[in-house]
Order: sequence, then structure tokens, then C-alpha cells
Amino acid sequence: MRAEKYKRIVWLRHDLRTYDNPALFRAAKEQEGVLAVYFICREMLTNHVVAPVQVDFIRRHLLLLNNDLAELNIPLVVIYVDKTAEIVPHLQKLIKLYQVEELFLNAEYPLDEFNRDKQVSETLRAQGLVVKRFHDRVIIPPGMVRNGKGDPYKVFTAFKNNWIEQARVLPLQPLKKPAVQAAHSFIALTDQQINTLFKGIEQRDLFTLWPAGEKEASKRLKAFVKNHIEDYQTARDFPDQEGTSQLSPYLAVGSISPRQCIAAALQANQGEFDSGNAGITTWISELVWRDFYQHLVVDFPDVCKFNAMQKHTEAFPWRHDETLFQAWCNGETGIPIVDAAMLQLKATGWMHNRLRMVVAMFLTKNLQIDWRMGEHYFMTQLIDGDFAANNGGWQWSASTGTDAAPYFRIFNPVSQSQRFDADGAFIRRYLPALAKLPAKTIHNPPPTPGYPLPIVDLSTSRKETIALFGALKG
Ligand SMILES: Cc1cc2nc3c(=O)[nH]c(=O)nc-3n(C[C@H](O)[C@H](O)[C@H](O)COP(=O)(O)OP(=O)(O)OC[C@H]3O[C@@H](n4cnc5c(N)ncnc54)[C@H](O)[C@@H]3O)c2cc1C
Repeated sequence: MRAEKYKRIVWLRHDLRTYDNPALFRAAKEQEGVLAVYFICREMLTNHVVAPVQVDFIRRHLLLLNNDLAELNIPLVVIYVDKTAEIVPHLQKLIKLYQVEELFLNAEYPLDEFNRDKQVSETLRAQGLVVKRFHDRVIIPPGMVRNGKGDPYKVFTAFKNNWIEQARVLPLQPLKKPAVQAAHSFIALTDQQINTLFKGIEQRDLFTLWPAGEKEASKRLKAFVKNHIEDYQTARDFPDQEGTSQLSPYLAVGSISPRQCIAAALQANQGEFDSGNAGITTWISELVWRDFYQHLVVDFPDVCKFNAMQKHTEAFPWRHDETLFQAWCNGETGIPIVDAAMLQLKATGWMHNRLRMVVAMFLTKNLQIDWRMGEHYFMTQLIDGDFAANNGGWQWSASTGTDAAPYFRIFNPVSQSQRFDADGAFIRRYLPALAKLPAKTIHNPPPTPGYPLPIVDLSTSRKETIALFGALKG
């Protein structure tokens, strides 16, 4: 029997959804036959230390997407490869077998992914294939937000002002579901076949905390907009409250798009970006931060090579002390809010934003440990691990980034704890040894059985770090 003909292949990566997926939508538009393909690439997963919890989240997304695409008569082909170099031969095989004429994909911005896509596109174009690249990972594509001289912004507020000016006139309506294709005789992969392809890759299943799928993502977005977004400005800093959307894992694997998020926020705020409800405008600002970091990766790809944005900070004598580092990773620093946060990360694959800043500042400014070690560890643990946001967050906290926290403004983890976990409820949730301590002492506890003493003196280390940064020639 002759194989079916599919005019287009959509290569899915961090865009595991059917709605508002530009590459998929455009590929399906003329209903000329679409094949979707996903590569599980061991080399990429290993080199980018993708957390087992995120690998599992991706696997569970693929199972659902397989069904959603089947309803559109778009077969999903999932292929395991050891190395990126194997992607082209696999695509060539599919192109030949199904007489494919065009490849559609949504852009990926970190350097390795960018180079991979460039190499794949150039090779296939040279063989006559049409390759079309779209933008879905950001609300405004990289390269479009520029200052008067045409240069990228390095300061967030200026970026945001220009971003809003442009966004006001952009069509921000999410794309609808792709068109259904003609029926075909392709036999869809079974769940078992997809699961087998992931065998041998470390996975950790947290499905009760993080159900997969674009339906779940959009349910969460709706619930957040209905119940929490208006209080976001006041509630977002308190780790024991449900003050934030917890959509980051879904944005990371692309089961929801940032455009869907902003459209929902705008709808709840009469279309206003920077006026109206303060909770909503603050949440919109966070989505702009997200875009800002994605743009930085494109404009300053050097950050993808373990380099600081501010070159002079490379001279800081960062420590690589394994004992202190392990105490931080394992939540054994003797600073309760830091330890509770690190245990939240281990237990849930996620950490509240306020706490990410607190633990990152503690690691870099009190322990003076290289921010790259923290950045790496976060990626190994986070279900929402995203290179741009993670690198941006770490370089902000370490004062090595553009528009970063000034080096002399170091969070004191104890006062952060007193302010944002005043009654100690968050600490008690993760540190049973301290559960019986009153709110007054829980943030800076007296010697307590089963809980370590602080591994560093906060005041001395803070002064030392400020002096070391001050001595750098900026
Ligand atoms: C050291 C450090 C590391 C981080 N690593 C990551 C990471 O790997 N992946 C990741 O998605 N975010 C990262 N962040 C940003 C932020 O902490 C998370 O996006 C946020 O906690 C996710 O929770 P939420 O979905 O409830 O966010 P909400 O407060 O509901 O915000 C909505 C969305 O906006 C985006 N966003 C919010 N804050 C930021 C921010 N500061 N920078 C960039 N985007 C933001 C996220 O996509 C988030 O889902 C990091 C921050 C720091 C300080």
C-alpha cells in the first residue's frame, strides 16, 4: 500500500498544544495534510540538565496531545534520538515517505536550539524543502523591541514601556484550534509506544500536583483570572498563599502560550495594559519580564555559554565549596526560610518566586557560591525550568545581569521570612523540626534538636560580599 501524502510537517518542541500554536495553525490552514513530529533527544535533555520532573511532564503532555491531534486527523510521530545530528536523517525519511513539501516550526531562542534549527533548516532547504518559522514563545518577537538607536534594551522599565506601546496595536487574540485535516489511514501511536520511547530517561512523576495538558493549563488560567488575579499585587509575595498563577510549568512546555495569558488578563482589565486593576497590571508586568529575558537570550547569546551579562563581574572570586553548596541544595543551611524553600523545590519541582530570589541571593551573596552552580541545580529540579527565565533570575540575584539587583542591596533571609511568612506557616510545612516554635523565634531559631545551626554568619558575609563587589572594576 502506498503511504499517505502529507504536505506539511510540524516539528513540535516547547509548544505542546493545539490552540494558539502558530506553526500548527498555519500548517493546517489549507487542509492539505499535516504530520506532527516530536523528537525526544537524549543529548539535549542531558546537556541542558532537564529535570526528571519536567521530562515526565513532557511525556504526559505527549500522551494527551497525541489524542487531541488525532481528533484533527493530524498524526503524531514521536521519535527517540541519541544525538541532535540524527534529527535531519529522520526528517528526510519522513519527507520522502510522505512526499512532504514544507516544514513548520515555532522558534526556540537559546543558542543550542537556535543553532540546531538553523542547521536543520539550511540542510532541508538546500534539498528543496520550504521551512517556515513562527514565534509563539513570546508575546512580541525578539528583535522588535528596540531603542531609538535600534539597539536592544538592557533596562527592563524602558523595554516594558516600548513593549506596551507596540502591544497596544498588535493583534493579541489567540489563534483558534487548527483546521481538521482529511481522514487518513495512519495508525496513531499508543500510550504504551510513547511511554516506551521515554524508557531509560530519568523521570519523576508528580501528576497529582501537576496534571498535564492544555485543558488543565487553560482551566488554571481561567481559575486564576477569576479568583486571584485582582489580588496578585498584594498576595504574590507570600509563599504560603495561593497568590500566583502557578502556570510556569505549562508555559515552559508550551501547553499554554503567553499570548493566551495576556489575552485573558486584558479581557479582565478592559483591555488596559498599565492602568485599571493593580493586580492585573502587575501580572501583565511579569509576563513582560518573561518576554524581556527571552529577548535577552537572542540579543546576548553569550549568556548561553555560562557568561555573565556584566563582564566585569566575572572577576568576582566566586567559591565552589561543595559542602556549603550541598547544604544549600539539601535544605540544611540552618536558615529556616532558605531550607523550607529548597525542600519545596525538592518536593514539588517548583518554588515560589519570592523564595527563588531569597535562596539565590543567599547562595551568591552570603555563601559567595558561583551563581552558575545554583542555576544548574535549579534546572535539574524545576518542572518549569526555562533557560531564559532561569538564567535571567540567577543573574538578577547575583548582580551579574543587566538591570540586576544592585550588589549592595542584599536580601536578609531572616527579615524576608519575617515579612513574607510572618506566622511561619510556610516554614512549618517543610521543616517539622521547627513546627512547634512560635512565630517570634521560628525565623531565626535557637538551637533546636533535629535542625542545623546556621552555616554562615549573615551579617559578616554580607559585608564581605559588598566589599568584594565594590572592589571590582565596573
Ligand atoms: C533564581 C530564579 C530562577 C528562576 N527560574 C525560572 C525558570 O526556570 N522558569 C520560569 O518559568 N521562571 C523562573 N523564574 C521566574 C519566576 O520565579 C517564575 O516564573 C514564577 O515563580 C512562576 O510562578 P507562577 O507561574 O505562579 O508565576 P506568576 O507570578 O503567576 O507569573 C506569571 C508568569 O509570568 C512569568 N514570570 C513571572 N515572574 C517572572 C520572572 N521574574 N522572570 C521571568 N518570567 C516570570 C512566568 O512565566 C509565570 O508563569 C526564576 C526566578 C528566579 C529569581
